[in-house]
Amino acid sequence: MDPSRPPRAAEGSPRGGSDAGLRAQAQAWTPGQKLEYLRTRNVGDCTRCKLAKTRTNIVFGVGDPNARVMFIGEAPGADEDRRGEPFVGAAGRRLTQWIERLGMKREQVYIANVLKCRPPGNRDPAAEEIEKCSPFLRAQVRAIRPAVIVALGRYAGMLLIGTDQDLKLAQMRNRRFTYDDAGAGLQIPLHVTYHPSYVIRREGDSRRVSETRPTTR
Ligand code: URA
Repeated sequence: MDPSRPPRAAEGSPRGGSDAGLRAQAQAWTPGQKLEYLRTRNVGDCTRCKLAKTRTNIVFGVGDPNARVMFIGEAPGADEDRRGEPFVGAAGRRLTQWIERLGMKREQVYIANVLKCRPPGNRDPAAEEIEKCSPFLRAQVRAIRPAVIVALGRYAGMLLIGTDQDLKLAQMRNRRFTYDDAGAGLQIPLHVTYHPSYVIRREGDSRRVSETRPTTR
């Protein structure tokens, strides 16, 4: 299989016109083997969008390939770009706390992002980047087949719900959605919640407001 094939090849990972035999074999692969094939052969040293020029590392995903819960964020930040692992900076520490509050360990879940490369300056993902990169995320979901998906923030929420509308997080939080992948026969309960970075920022803002509020003493 040619690792430079366009991301469509990642959809059902692994896939390819000339290797029906490999595809048949892959049916028997473990989720871990499927993820490894996807990472090394389909994603490879991806240059499908301009983020390839500015990234340090591709941030594929981390965790248990047999996880029941999959957390999906937006895109790597500076720490993640440096280390090649998702959610390892301040947002990652907060996400780990949330996971532990749910009674799990970080190693028991699977964590990935909509984009595998850092947008410069942590800007929002561009539509073209999402289009090029999201087939890899879909292939990760196909490999893992989690029981539940948690989307962190608006971009992950909108992508996984499968909407073209520009929704606000408030329109997605506390509602029941399903992640649908008809081609793989997947219908997975999907929850959309705050992005940990947003929560950290908001806490910082409210601390600053309370520090500047005049006191009566
Ligand atoms: N924010 C994200 O959305 N993903 C990361 O991996 C880190 C920060």
